[in-house]
Amino acid sequence: MINVSIATSYIIVGQGLAGTTLAWSLYKENIPFVIIDNHHQHCASKVAAGLYNPVVFKRMVKSWMVDDLLPVADKFYTYCEEILETKFWHKLPIKKIFVNEEEKNLWRKKSAENVYLGAIEEDIIINEIDSKEGLGKVNNAGWLDVPLLLEKSKEFFLEKKILLQQQFNYEDILILENQVGYKEITAKGIVFCEGYQMLYNPYFLKLPLIPTKGEVITLKVKNFNPNCTLNKGVFLLPLNDNTFKCGATYEWHTTKAEITEKGKKELEEKMQKFLKADYTILHHDAGIRPTVVDRRPLLGNHPQYKNIFIFNGLGTKGVMLAPYFAYIMKEFMLEKAVISKNVDIKRFSAT
Ligand SMILES: Cc1cc2nc3c(=O)[nH]c(=O)nc-3n(C[C@H](O)[C@H](O)[C@H](O)COP(=O)(O)OP(=O)(O)OC[C@H]3O[C@@H](n4cnc5c(N)ncnc54)[C@H](O)[C@@H]3O)c2cc1C
Repeated sequence: MINVSIATSYIIVGQGLAGTTLAWSLYKENIPFVIIDNHHQHCASKVAAGLYNPVVFKRMVKSWMVDDLLPVADKFYTYCEEILETKFWHKLPIKKIFVNEEEKNLWRKKSAENVYLGAIEEDIIINEIDSKEGLGKVNNAGWLDVPLLLEKSKEFFLEKKILLQQQFNYEDILILENQVGYKEITAKGIVFCEGYQMLYNPYFLKLPLIPTKGEVITLKVKNFNPNCTLNKGVFLLPLNDNTFKCGATYEWHTTKAEITEKGKKELEEKMQKFLKADYTILHHDAGIRPTVVDRRPLLGNHPQYKNIFIFNGLGTKGVMLAPYFAYIMKEFMLEKAVISKNVDIKRFSAT
């Protein structure tokens, strides 16, 4: 049974990437909190490949705010690794397999203004890969083992008795002027980090969150150990022991998270355009991403109930966004900072 004491505490609803990074941001500063999580099997964080890529391949430009986001993410996940004594932050280049000469020329041209566009590799023969147009190496890329970070964090929070594994019921909230009550817990505020399940939250019903389904497959390719993630239409991320993750599909405006034959076929067809080796599929998973119309996170508090907060909208790039914006969120909750307009929920007229 959790015994929380009291007026300086926060209740975090959701232990996906958003809730977990916010929790660690509070923990770092000794700010008490309790997490409530319903262990939803189709939450995005459970299936995320966890890649971080500082380049938007379509236009070969830098990803939004990447120069600010990456150093914070690097420091943050390293801090979590130290506390949890587990490795989950992996630096690993991404190599883009060029589709044609035109794409290679665009890479060359854009690399003058984009430091993340690294060397072009031509005439490199990798037996398992069809890369006759050459490869472009992305600098400063990698991946976070999101499920492992979440699992280890869960164990840690359970051990500290600050994680309740249950559904949060909105009708049990009691909002007072400077406090909120939830069942036996009294706190200074509640922060909703519910991913796409925000769609059922009566306090934020009008925010334009788009549930975006994604499917991934995990496969085994014998004797193939590229020291990079490969990308051409889909990514092929080496995890360990000849095991790879390939993804992802995008299906907008759906909360139906079942895996489908159609999704698997799409991934396999795209992957077979460059992977020449035989493989065996080990798993097939699906989850729902919390994306937003303008592709920016959702931070802020309820216009009427100031102690009801939200941290959501991490969309397709949660790994890079979460640590930076968890910090901003924490500062805002402590009334030490304001939220910039482009991520503040106030940009959408009514919640
Ligand atoms: C297939 C796929 C691949 C992806 N690949 C990448 C990638 O390579 N790189 C990247 O950066 N991002 C990737 N993402 C996106 C990334 O997963 C998300 O940005 C991120 O995980 C969102 O985290 P979240 O905490 O906001 O939401 P979620 O992961 O959905 O977590 C929400 C949590 O809240 C809990 N919850 C919700 N409502 C309640 C309630 N009422 N009571 C109690 N608990 C509740 C849920 O159980 C869950 O644990 C991918 C997503 C998918 C689906």
